[in-house]
Amino acid sequence: MRTLDSTTSLRIAVQKSGRLTDKTLKLLEGIGLKFDDYKRSLLVRCLNFDVELLLIRDDDIPEYVQDGVCDLGFVGANVVAEDQADVTILKGLEYGVCRLSVAVPKNGDIKKAEDFEGKKIATSYPVLTRNFFEEKGINVKIVTLSGSVEIAPRLEIADAITDLVSTGGTLKANGLVEIDKIFDSETQLVKTNKPLSDGKQALIDKFLQRIEGYQRAEKSRYIMMNAPQESVEKIKKIIPSLRSPTVMPLADNGMVAIHTVITITAFWDLMEELKAAGATGIVMLPIESMIV
Ligand code: ATP
Ligand code: ZN
Repeated sequence: MRTLDSTTSLRIAVQKSGRLTDKTLKLLEGIGLKFDDYKRSLLVRCLNFDVELLLIRDDDIPEYVQDGVCDLGFVGANVVAEDQADVTILKGLEYGVCRLSVAVPKNGDIKKAEDFEGKKIATSYPVLTRNFFEEKGINVKIVTLSGSVEIAPRLEIADAITDLVSTGGTLKANGLVEIDKIFDSETQLVKTNKPLSDGKQALIDKFLQRIEGYQRAEKSRYIMMNAPQESVEKIKKIIPSLRSPTVMPLADNGMVAIHTVITITAFWDLMEELKAAGATGIVMLPIESMIV
């Protein structure tokens, strides 16, 4: 078995069990990392890259990275900002998207910012919440709770709350309405600011490149279509290709196959135009990784 050299192998903090866990592990697998059995142990060795994962609570991740216990971490921007951790944000990862919002009881007497003066606000994000109201010059009393913040108004622990929201379903189910937004969040890849060996830094660069390739691939599709030769110029103008598309003659006289890479959003917009320009048999394929 390969032994890990602690001066070059990367230790990466990942949420042990929660909303970010599956998507983070899918991303790591998507960039080619293989793991034994990550459900059983707290420290999981990667089988084919000099990496080990430390599976911990998301709240602990910024501090572990700040202190250099882990070199990298995958964690919500909300947690990094709340902890005011001394780490470097390498990348936004476009999952775990949510917002920290201010919500009040529906039909209550708080309707706008000024109505908060002197009110009690329950939250798990006291730092971000305090800063938000301080910047507006409004005095509020913060009640810090570690969870189930949404029921605080009903229990009369607080007049309003700030909490993470994605769809808004939880707020609605608790008779609350969102009236302001404090912070937009997504999962971030963060790096320690502690000095790293050249070996580790090189591994981080490699790791980042793979993530960038994976992110590009996720947004792109390989498309193939057939078209009459005389449509090629028209089709080329429709496709905003990375490079010029590949055009290959088909056995059928006067017909060509056109292959190219486009973004998924562009595909659905362009499909009708391509058909109108003479393209037939349009096939779209996923791409695993894309290095440009
Ligand atoms: P842990 O046991 O690790 O402390 P947790 O209960 O604090 O877990 P989760 O609910 O799993 O955390 O949320 C983890 C992260 O997912 C949040 O910090 C946030 O970045 C993101 N997230 C995305 N959408 C939501 C949402 N609707 N509610 C809460 N968090 C969300
Ligand atoms: Zn947490």
